[in-house]
Amino acid sequence: MTFIPHVIDGEEVESLDGARFESVDPWTRAPWAEVALGDARDAERAVTAARRAFDTGPWPRMGYAERGKILHRLADLIEARGGELALADTTDMGKPISDATAMDVPRSAHNLRFFADHARMSVGDLLPMDTGHHAYTRFEPAGVVVAIAPWNFPLMLETWKVAPALAWGNCVVLKPAEDTPASAHILGRLANEAGLPPGVLNVVQGYGPESAGQALTEDARVDRITFTGESGTGRAVSRAAAANLTPVSLELGGKGANLVFDDADLERAVRWSIQAVFSNAGQVCLAGSRLFVQRGIFHAFLDAFTAAADAMVAGDPKDPSTKLGPLSSEAHFNKVREYVEGAVGEGATIVTGGVGDGWVIRPTILTGASATARVRCEEIFGPVVVVDAFDSEDEAVAAANNTPYGLNAMLFTENLSRAHRVAAALRAGTVWTNCFFIRDLRAPFGGVGDSGVGREGGNFSREFFTEPKAVVMEITPAPRA
Ligand code: NAD
Repeated sequence: MTFIPHVIDGEEVESLDGARFESVDPWTRAPWAEVALGDARDAERAVTAARRAFDTGPWPRMGYAERGKILHRLADLIEARGGELALADTTDMGKPISDATAMDVPRSAHNLRFFADHARMSVGDLLPMDTGHHAYTRFEPAGVVVAIAPWNFPLMLETWKVAPALAWGNCVVLKPAEDTPASAHILGRLANEAGLPPGVLNVVQGYGPESAGQALTEDARVDRITFTGESGTGRAVSRAAAANLTPVSLELGGKGANLVFDDADLERAVRWSIQAVFSNAGQVCLAGSRLFVQRGIFHAFLDAFTAAADAMVAGDPKDPSTKLGPLSSEAHFNKVREYVEGAVGEGATIVTGGVGDGWVIRPTILTGASATARVRCEEIFGPVVVVDAFDSEDEAVAAANNTPYGLNAMLFTENLSRAHRVAAALRAGTVWTNCFFIRDLRAPFGGVGDSGVGREGGNFSREFFTEPKAVVMEITPAPRA
């Protein structure tokens, strides 16, 4: 069986106590790899390596251009080994190989290229003062960054965290989710091959609570923690970080609203709405899992939406024609199945969907869910959408905002003023109008309320991964002749 080690200080290593766990392929439902099971001592070893690399190594002292060249080389390697990386994520968590190949891998390479270039071309402020001084800003690397990632977009979200941290001169300890160790391991190996000095990017495998993840968040030698995962875990990470006053960036759960107005381009609204909630089997923090459709087009929309959902090819994620794979694990499959099975008791009608082969849940569309139904209020993280009709714009905005989450929202309309008005009124970190999932990495990304703390992207990542410094300088008057 394949073995997946840690990558610490430039070396591929076992856990100190030799412990291992298994990674299960959710399509075959059988273990496919053995993984080094990290604990607090392995976490400590990785932080020590990153600390030394930061305090005494070349990485933080290199120029942006030199660091950028190495990060571009890493992006080249990601592209060259795209097939291996896509297969790693597909085997670990059931993502369709066509998505992993067409989206996760190219976006991962792009994360590295973008932040390498962004750091190199970034400008600070120069503040001329009328007291005979001037002030300017510098962006010093923060130090050791711990990056903790979820399993739904493994490589893509890991590079989203690691790339800006490295580009700004930090040294990193990455802990991938226990369900998706493989692509992070390849990333660590490729980083060595690309020429990152030992200790600059370390990958520790293992679990979160009372394990490697928690130990990383409690280590006082860590300068930044960037975390993506569930809101409840975000609270635990935040508490651990508070003990050391370590700054945290939290990208958490969501319950995205998707508003379709009666003047929308129906074909476009259906196409994007399908993608918004059923891509990656709905295991997307940004999923448009609460769909509100204006009454005049409700039936026409629902018919087209249901037909498109039923047409999605579900099955073996390694088959290039598959659009919907299994859920990532048995535990997660059971959780989503319970939501679907409980929906009818909450007043909902199942328009289409339900349990498929193995750990597959078919695209599931619910109508009539009660105001307090769990399927309406809680993040399901599966291919399940609750659809409602609305009459007025105000009603739609109020319904969309009626959630403790606030990661993102979508709206579909051909009315320009309404598009701007509603985008402004929605309580969310990102609003997509007439599209979904399109990103400009300069834009802020993050959530309101239970969806997170802070923003990353472009200058927002710079703020988080550096210590912005003000330098104030006196300009002495010229000596009198
Ligand atoms: P999770 O919170 O269970 O785990 C995320 C990571 O945290 C894993 O690596 C896990 O091992 C680690 N972890 C768990 N407990 C920990 C602890 N006490 N201390 C330190 N680390 C700990 O989340 P998940 O199930 O892997 O991912 C799904 C969740 O992630 C969903 O809620 C989803 O919405 C969210 N998510 C958010 C975004 C975003 O950008 N906002 C993106 C993707 C996923």
